[in-house]
Amino acid sequence: MPASIAALARLTAAADAGEVPEAADLEAVLASADAELMDVVAAAARLRFRRFGNTVKLNYLVNLKSGLCPEDCGYCSQRLGSKADVLKYTWLSPEQAAEQAAAGVAGGASRVCLVASGRGPTDMDVERVGKTIAAVKGAAPGVEVCACLGLLQGGQADRLAELGADAYNHNLNTAEDAYAEICSTHTFADRVDTVNAAHGAGLSPCSGLIAGMGESDADLVSVALGLRALNVDSIPVNFLLPFDGTPLEGRWELDPRRCLRILAMVRLANPDAEVRLAAGREVHLRSHQATALQIVNSIFLGDYLTSEGQSAKDDLALIADAGLVPLGLEGALPEDAPEAVREAVKVRRRGAGTEVAPNA
Ligand code: SF4
Repeated sequence: MPASIAALARLTAAADAGEVPEAADLEAVLASADAELMDVVAAAARLRFRRFGNTVKLNYLVNLKSGLCPEDCGYCSQRLGSKADVLKYTWLSPEQAAEQAAAGVAGGASRVCLVASGRGPTDMDVERVGKTIAAVKGAAPGVEVCACLGLLQGGQADRLAELGADAYNHNLNTAEDAYAEICSTHTFADRVDTVNAAHGAGLSPCSGLIAGMGESDADLVSVALGLRALNVDSIPVNFLLPFDGTPLEGRWELDPRRCLRILAMVRLANPDAEVRLAAGREVHLRSHQATALQIVNSIFLGDYLTSEGQSAKDDLALIADAGLVPLGLEGALPEDAPEAVREAVKVRRRGAGTEVAPNA
């Protein structure tokens, strides 16, 4: 029996027993052969469907303040000294942010993620975000709001909870041992402290990772188990978009099958967590996005912080084609999918019988 198949059996047993899986078994998932890829997906899918059924949580990002960050995270297009040609602007007003969020909610999002670049918020920033949370919730009652404002200090997590935030995101990004290679202006421990502060304040802790930054399989497993140890509720898995003008420019080391293995490993390490397919999915998973939905139970709808995603309409069609439903919209599949399918049928006007070059 291949080592990865034996590892899948042990990982499934560990999940059933509620036990922490062995790092070596998770590394075996990452090292599995292409011929075993569907076994890997199936093992992760069983956990996904057992815990979350056929639902997909839709999250919508609003970038409250973009670019010009004083921190030096090497993967980030908003970092200190970034030459990436991304949007740069200061704080959106509460009304502007609420207008953006409302578009996502209308598209089916049940969580809005309010994100601001920077090392961390001032107390005044926290109050400003509180007004934005009120505006977002006023326009879309019932929507969850997650804040992502960087490192928190003092009583800022408690204050955000008082102001109506439901969750707080702060990604670990990579393994503790590899952290100094991607950032020099703050530490892995700083990030852990903020995740713990958010959790302690009663905010739902959201923390994830970025794959494709030159990390080893052991690093990926380390961060996946680190997130489990922090007992986070949701885990965004990002695939590096190596923007020109950043230190990781040109680092294209992922392929769709590698991405599926990473997602499955994160799911097997965290059977009960919301695993969210995040930035880079369209670029790196490509035709395997639908397969990835068998593993994850959450995606970002529409665009990311500094890059554009595929259209929200295409996201919803992808979910419907997989037989899944947006969380909170069970029974309300997008009605225009059949029309979109009909429009995709085109009478051939090229190749044999025409003067136009064949499609090859
Ligand atoms: S702190 Fe956030 S916005 Fe600033 S460089 Fe790091 S990831 Fe980018």
